[in-house]
Amino acid sequence: MWNVRADTGRRYRLYPTDEQAQRLASWGHTCRWLYNTALEQRQFAWQQRRIILGVTAQCASLTEARKDLDWVADLPAQSGQQVLRHLDQAYRNWWDPQHPAGPPTRKRKSARLSVPFPGQAIAVRRVSRRWGVVSLPKIGEVKFRWSRPLGGVVRNAVVSFDGVAWHVGFGVHAGVATPEAHARPGTVVGVDRGVKVALAMSDGRMWNRAFTPPGRERRLAGLKSKAGRQETARRKRGAKTSNRARKVRAEIARTEAKVRNRRRDFVMWAANRLCTQHATIKIERLRVKAMTGTAKGTIAEPGVNVAAKAGLNRAILDKGWGMFQVALANRARTTGTRIVKVPAAFTSQRCSRCGHTDRNNRESQALFRCGSCGHQANADVNAAINVRDAAEAASPLTGRAVRDRSRKASCRPPTQRRQRTALEAGMSRH
Ligand SMILES: [Zn+2]
Repeated sequence: MWNVRADTGRRYRLYPTDEQAQRLASWGHTCRWLYNTALEQRQFAWQQRRIILGVTAQCASLTEARKDLDWVADLPAQSGQQVLRHLDQAYRNWWDPQHPAGPPTRKRKSARLSVPFPGQAIAVRRVSRRWGVVSLPKIGEVKFRWSRPLGGVVRNAVVSFDGVAWHVGFGVHAGVATPEAHARPGTVVGVDRGVKVALAMSDGRMWNRAFTPPGRERRLAGLKSKAGRQETARRKRGAKTSNRARKVRAEIARTEAKVRNRRRDFVMWAANRLCTQHATIKIERLRVKAMTGTAKGTIAEPGVNVAAKAGLNRAILDKGWGMFQVALANRARTTGTRIVKVPAAFTSQRCSRCGHTDRNNRESQALFRCGSCGHQANADVNAAINVRDAAEAASPLTGRAVRDRSRKASCRPPTQRRQRTALEAGMSRH
């Protein structure tokens, strides 16, 4: 039973006491420090001695660090080891030519706090219809809202804080196999990821949701410029971050987390619906990174339409592209849906009835009118029909292979970016 791997995740809202929350937050900072330090150590070892440090060697360093530093020792040993295993996995993903991941990078201070626990270190118990408790090392039982069934054996847990609330995510072995055939064979849908509406389907459905209400967007912009002013002033004085500045930052984090949560909710909902209803889902092969890259151009060759492109970029990122593809691939594993990526060229300019392709066909952002046969339709739906009818050139998308790795190295050892390792240069916390 201990060999079974987690094949799905379950996330619940966690309700630690103030004391527990403080300790978890401090562990979260320690985990980030540990990850970054271990990353530097590996980069240093490779650069200086051409040695690839493994998990075992790094766990030994961690044991040493725990003897010297109280705050490192406070983090449960298993969590520290889990952090090092995650880093090792990040390296192996990078070296795996089949995997889209790029080289491991430092975790920033603004990243969400998270503390991992292996399955052996925790226990989950249901205490009532609505509540469960998870026993964590050193801090004991923490309540969580039992909002959905676990549906399998808990293999690991990650406790995290996203700026709004605490969550516990369990890696669960549910043992669900991908069905041989979809429950509704032969059902094909084309999906266009529009700018005005988030998703348009070839059958005419259009799904959208406002992730940032206009008022909140303005407020967020105001907060951000305030935080910027505070930071400039702080640097000038050379002072520490004030409590007021900290409050503004927390407010920004909370607002952004809410937007993220809404977007994830929409994306999961859409992916679930599409996968249960369709045996084949066709989407455009869009290179999000290439599309959202800078429009500014260079001094010698300034970009055209900079402001418009920036607005479009915002809209694209706002709708949560990459996340949608990952959600589709994940959900497809349990429904047996086939996800097919087709080339995106001209889908928005081609008439879905007669095939006439002309950029003038797109009368406005919303309206498509064919210059040859006069066919009229919603522009995004017309594009979705073209996607549905496009030839299947691409191989089906499975698992998490979504990120664009064209600019990344394929299979070479890590390069070094920093000269020293914090472990050797005397440990400082940040
Ligand atoms: Zn036409």
